[in-house]
Amino acid sequence: LKHFPYSRVLVLGLAKSGTAAAKYLLSTGRKVRVNDQQAPDEDVLDDLHALGAELITGSHPLSVLDDMDVIIKNPGISYDHPILTEAVQRELPILTEIELAGLLVDNDIVGITGSNGKTTTATLTTAMINEGDRTAKLAGNIGSVATDVAQTLQVNETLILELSSFQLMGVNTFHPNIAVLLNIYEAHLDYHKTFENYRQAKCNIFAEQSSDDYLVYNADNPVVNASVADAAAIKIPFSVSQRVTHGAWSDETCIYFNEEKIADKKDIVLVGDHNLENILAAVCAAKLSGVTNDAIRHVLQTFSGVKHRLQHVATINERLFYNDSKATNLLATQKALSAFQNPVILLAGGLDRGNEFDDLKPYLDNVKAMVLFGETKEKLQRIAVEAAVPFIQTTDHLDEAVKLAFTQSERGDIILLSPACASWDQYRTFEERGDMFEQAVHKID
Ligand code: ADP
Repeated sequence: LKHFPYSRVLVLGLAKSGTAAAKYLLSTGRKVRVNDQQAPDEDVLDDLHALGAELITGSHPLSVLDDMDVIIKNPGISYDHPILTEAVQRELPILTEIELAGLLVDNDIVGITGSNGKTTTATLTTAMINEGDRTAKLAGNIGSVATDVAQTLQVNETLILELSSFQLMGVNTFHPNIAVLLNIYEAHLDYHKTFENYRQAKCNIFAEQSSDDYLVYNADNPVVNASVADAAAIKIPFSVSQRVTHGAWSDETCIYFNEEKIADKKDIVLVGDHNLENILAAVCAAKLSGVTNDAIRHVLQTFSGVKHRLQHVATINERLFYNDSKATNLLATQKALSAFQNPVILLAGGLDRGNEFDDLKPYLDNVKAMVLFGETKEKLQRIAVEAAVPFIQTTDHLDEAVKLAFTQSERGDIILLSPACASWDQYRTFEERGDMFEQAVHKID
């Protein structure tokens, strides 16, 4: 860990990333103090204790800062927290676990961020590199802790990091070889307070890059476009709406990188205009990583989507089933409906947050049937009636909904779970809801 000149480290906020960082730093012989407001799992505490960590749990007394050289903080802890304002006063550097992971390896790093599309783009990029002559491992926001994954990398293996704005807020020296900035929309303002803070957090992905690094960015997104103007890295734009000379773009029928045709759109399994952006971004990152066009094309022809995100899960008797359980709001369901030309049978409903669904109506032209469940089923039923959807049915169970959808379907139809609502009225998570959908689909088969 040659780029980490600190010997006494305070890990603030444990969770998975803090635990991984603490364990790693202890293994390098550093003095580690761990401080968490809650008492974490006994097992975790015992582990850390056995490795020699000093543990302070239950609150964040300012004295935990005494004698420390640096703080590794959990992304969830706000910079307004008194412990951090005090740390700033004392001029203690504050890093995040992502930055630690970046300092830990000499491997190529691809960092991917944006308001939307991170998981899809990161997963696609990883698949493309793995399809080529090299290998890649994925970590970060997506689930596996970056510090853990970084320790398992082989020489020449690429580390792909999916990065949230929370994770990027605390980085000072992080500089991926390839940064990907997908889009910046207004979101997460509760934590970042202002749009400007949020935008700047996203821009941290390229702020420390040098002129040898690459910055892949969405030339169609106005905020992104303006933000990258002064970037030091080599800029590689992508655009779904215009031809670009050094980057990825698409026309009616194909996608391209520079002058080269990469793939016919009709051969790409992933659907949706938003996914075309993610595809172009992944193509840029893959090309810059030396992946061949054949390997990229093969992934585009086989990759059916990230689980629960407009994912093609089955084709039964020429009906295509899509699991979009991650669509927990209206906007996501609008996007999903826009992805299809063929008639759609929509399965929707879930937790009632008190909102109405009128804005769904313009998207229902293509919808031949709606099967509705969960707390919002009556609200959605009213919308379906007003939009004159030909077949409308409510039900209590997803199993039943899938069966009903199938009986209403014809060859070529799309049967789409895109609930427009959170899952917590009936399920623990949207993943559980998506899995139930898939199981129900396979029962038909
Ligand atoms: P993230 O990891 O940023 O949450 P995902 O890849 O998991 O993004 O996609 C989540 C949802 O965000 C999708 O189901 C879709 O509704 C929307 N989405 C995905 N990619 C984009 C994009 N490029 N632009 C706008 N919305 C997108």
